[in-house]
Amino acid sequence: MNSSCQHDEDLLLQPIWDKLHSHRDLLASPFFPVMFTFAANLLACAPYLLLDAMGPRWSFFHQYKLKPYHSVKPETVARCLSRICYNHGLFIFPVTLVCQGLRPQPWIPQAPTVLQLVTGVALCLLLFDLLFFLWHLLHHRVPLLYRWLHSLHHQHGSTFSLSAQYASAWEILCLQLLAVSTPCLLTCHPLTEMTFFLLNIWLSVEDHCGYDLPWSTHKIVPFGILGGAPFHDLHHEKFRCNYAPYFTHWDKLFRTYRKPSRGQPDNRQEEKVREQRKEEQNRQGSVTWWN
Ligand SMILES: [Zn+2]
Ligand SMILES: [Zn+2]
Repeated sequence: MNSSCQHDEDLLLQPIWDKLHSHRDLLASPFFPVMFTFAANLLACAPYLLLDAMGPRWSFFHQYKLKPYHSVKPETVARCLSRICYNHGLFIFPVTLVCQGLRPQPWIPQAPTVLQLVTGVALCLLLFDLLFFLWHLLHHRVPLLYRWLHSLHHQHGSTFSLSAQYASAWEILCLQLLAVSTPCLLTCHPLTEMTFFLLNIWLSVEDHCGYDLPWSTHKIVPFGILGGAPFHDLHHEKFRCNYAPYFTHWDKLFRTYRKPSRGQPDNRQEEKVREQRKEEQNRQGSVTWWN
């Protein structure tokens, strides 16, 4: 690569970074990170909610639904939305306020190069995946931690997009803390940090969306490196496998990996009954970590 190409590549992200600079006051506001994650989550969920609403009427998409018998009820959507608002308003916002006071972000005029951004985001995803894997494993292996702090997220035996954020305030705060500290530990550029946050939200919604679409990220990335929705849906169903949020290597290494397989038409009714029983148990708080 000659020096002029190198220079062009270095400047590729500069206009985007300069544009963001013109909104610096907004970005520095303590409301911004909260509104950013809130809006990004809802926007990422919107297409999947539409697919859920259309159901079998959109047969092309419905054929990719992991559990075709599972329909998302309006009251479930309302319950998830109110939990997301509750967690963001009462917990994430005050904690963000404190964090911003403790760690004011200096503005860096120079944008990262494309290579720096891509490498930084990949490293962030790998580190976040490891940290979350350890957190998740601990919260399944210690019964009290599971019962008090993680079981709420497992109320949905069959996942759907909004269930990504349906969790206790403790879990959401831990996830936020891990997501925020990951680019800090890797000393990433703020633009890399923002890109990582967006990708993190997208992958988390994809994990829970309940569809195994042909263009899903885990289908695009080769060699089964990412688990995607089938991998995480199996975790919600079986509890004791597939703990990592995105990548499959840690579960393979710890022998907690379970290969997902789509349900056959003849056992769907049986699965449905088991599903309803499990969701009922979860609602009553009678579920235990070894189930
Ligand atoms: Zn879990
Ligand atoms: Zn989940």
